[in-house]
Amino acid sequence: MTKFALAIHGGCGVMARLDLDEEEWIAARRDLGRALEAGYAVLESGGRALDAVQAAVIVMEDSPHFNAGHGAALNENGVHELDASIMDGRSLAAGAVSAARHVRNPVKAARALLEQGDPLLLTGPAADRFAEDIGLAVEPQNYFTTGRRRAALAAMKAHVEAGTAARASESEKHGTVGAVALDSHGDLAAATSTGGYNNKPDGRVGDSPIIGAGTYARNGVCAVSGTGKGEYFIRHVAGHEVASRVDYLGESLETATRKVIMNDLKDVGAGLVAVDAQGAIAAPYNTDGMFRGWVNDKGEIFVASHAEVYRYPEDLQ
Ligand code: ASP
Repeated sequence: MTKFALAIHGGCGVMARLDLDEEEWIAARRDLGRALEAGYAVLESGGRALDAVQAAVIVMEDSPHFNAGHGAALNENGVHELDASIMDGRSLAAGAVSAARHVRNPVKAARALLEQGDPLLLTGPAADRFAEDIGLAVEPQNYFTTGRRRAALAAMKAHVEAGTAARASESEKHGTVGAVALDSHGDLAAATSTGGYNNKPDGRVGDSPIIGAGTYARNGVCAVSGTGKGEYFIRHVAGHEVASRVDYLGESLETATRKVIMNDLKDVGAGLVAVDAQGAIAAPYNTDGMFRGWVNDKGEIFVASHAEVYRYPEDLQ
């Protein structure tokens, strides 16, 4: 059996250590562990990478600790507009939604579009209508709102008022969740889901639902899910750039991902997780921290927010 692999991120908009009390840090890391468990259970039973990344992202969308689904960022009007995508490296099939306001799990709507085949991306009210029509759970806007996101929006608006927006902390700005996997059949997949960044303009769409930018998977090469200032991921076609470096230049996943995050995207907060066709994992970031985690081939789960890496669940009791 080919070895399988799974890695996730919960965004590079990680707060300074002192911004959260220890209990909250532990709760967030625990949810990363639960997301990895959900994805790993799929892979371990011989399931598909596509199902594994979806399962992991759903856990993080449902968690209040990450900027996707419940707990997503608010835009300039105090509205949640959700972006998500998923890609199958075997067929290059993909699905995406952008600026959705009601679908509880945007990644499920993206997956349904992938299965349907055409169109690939639906936006705004049409994305929500599609989700509702196929029987996915939809929620009122307040389902997605948490106290922390309200505070982050108020803080961001205060920065804009004072002319200090550029100095806002990474956590005040953004976040995202994503997963990449290699399954025992040798197939790769990636999925990403986000509320975008706090105080984003009405109707703004980031990189997360853009195939090749925030999400990309190609069998035999790698799968990538990004987090950070989406406009730059789109300009650099970051996910596809990583795959191109690995495929055409023969760079290792480690080298290719570091070049994109540390060189191409050095002027903005950015990070990603990636897995290659051999199961190697990379998770570079250029911010203070990035919620992230992975499972090794013995089934051991590791989670992290800053430099320290914790074993799940042992270290989080
Ligand atoms: N990439 C997301 C976006 O630009 C935000 C983030 O990951 O911080 O919408």
